[in-house]
Amino acid sequence: MIYFDHNATTPIDDRVLEAMLPFLKTFYGNPSSLYRLGRVGRSAIDTAREQLAALLGVQPGQIIFTCGGTEANNLALATLPPQAGFAVSAIEHPSIIEPALYLQSQGHTLSLLDVNADGLITQDAIDEIIRLKPHLVSIMLANNETGAVQNIAHYADQLRAHGIKFHSDAVQALGKIPVDFNRLGVDLMSLSSHKIYGPKGCGALVFEKNVAINPILLGGGQEQGFRAGTENVAAIVGFGKAAELVKTELDERHAHLLKLRMLLEQGLSAIPGLTIFAKQVERLPNTVQVGIHGIDGEMLLMQLDQQGIAVSSGSACASGVREPSPVLAAMGVEPAQAKTAIRISLGKANTEADIFEFIKQLKFLTETR
Ligand code: PLP
Repeated sequence: MIYFDHNATTPIDDRVLEAMLPFLKTFYGNPSSLYRLGRVGRSAIDTAREQLAALLGVQPGQIIFTCGGTEANNLALATLPPQAGFAVSAIEHPSIIEPALYLQSQGHTLSLLDVNADGLITQDAIDEIIRLKPHLVSIMLANNETGAVQNIAHYADQLRAHGIKFHSDAVQALGKIPVDFNRLGVDLMSLSSHKIYGPKGCGALVFEKNVAINPILLGGGQEQGFRAGTENVAAIVGFGKAAELVKTELDERHAHLLKLRMLLEQGLSAIPGLTIFAKQVERLPNTVQVGIHGIDGEMLLMQLDQQGIAVSSGSACASGVREPSPVLAAMGVEPAQAKTAIRISLGKANTEADIFEFIKQLKFLTETR
């Protein structure tokens, strides 16, 4: 099988699995327990926190482990004081958009930041937000569909100069491009383990110490009281190990992915009626979202699946009705064209042979339709 859906999830790295296994079998103690079996778990969590902190350039105490990127995003928005104004970009992941709409229904004032045809936030949108002076702004570092990378440092600088708190969802960026918390100049950042060859169900919210965190899970006071619940020790250990591997292998992974993406785009250029979305802007080295004129993206996905190739389509299925991607809609792409979208997201184990096979199959499927 050829797996081209690494933005959805990644296979666990063998070295990560190896690091996790002792905490599922031998060292099963509760990390809050004072005897040795518990202390071993506690110390493993401390190590994982240090590994992630070293990758991001922060202090370990700035990290709250969560059950994934979704929870980290919800926790970031929960920093809003009552009835506060806030803004999110129109292309955010549903784990920002949905809690944002909920908070709006609870009396907070929500503004949406528009993007241009390339999927980038515009300076006009930033200027407008500065005028509105909300409490918090959330803009993702890299988009999960198009792979477009935003100039977060530039926006964070301007917004924070006006006393506006800044959150960035860096779930898709981590492991693909450098992610340095202080260099980006943000107050809050969300991450997820399963996008970097770690286990599913684990993530983190990174926070600047002057941001007031309002826990959404109350209980036993774990994670400095910001996220109660017995820690998922094995998953946290896996996330830490995956982060350590990113730190040592990022350059190599980036170069490999970019080489494959260029090869892929070269092959795609020979397919008639094909558009690459957000083509002109800086994108993640592993992501290409395309649409082929007159070919339904979901249909193509199924046909590629029959040939043993996994990609994703650009449409979200909401209550049985297929809606074109809100990301492409925000970029001004017409619904008919948005429904042609498929996303190819490469990973570290993909090869040139995978790319050639994919192009061959895509050509065959588009020519014989
Ligand atoms: N944010 C972005 C940009 C994502 O792509 C995803 C997952 O697809 C998430 C957040 C959610 O992360 P998780 O699956 O860990 O809840």
